[in-house]
Amino acid sequence: MQNQAAMSFSERNFQPVVESCEGCDRVVEESGSQFCRSYLKPEAKWRLGICNFATHAKPEIEIATIRVNPLKAAKRASAKKV
Ligand code: SF4
Repeated sequence: MQNQAAMSFSERNFQPVVESCEGCDRVVEESGSQFCRSYLKPEAKWRLGICNFATHAKPEIEIATIRVNPLKAAKRASAKKV
């Protein structure tokens, strides 16, 4: 019986990483190809959005920030007119 750790990624049916995986710490190189050591099919991980295993990309959390207080801005604007 072959030890699983001794098997190559391609022998274990791992698919090469996709462009979006570039920069991820989980990418490993083996005989000229790059594989993800956590996920069998990187392409499928990215098909639905950001890979949740990615170490280099995080979903952006959009926080709406009000930069200008609209009331104060209106007061300032009317003050200028005078
Ligand atoms: S963890 Fe995700 S982003 Fe990183 S190499 Fe694997 S599939 Fe690509």
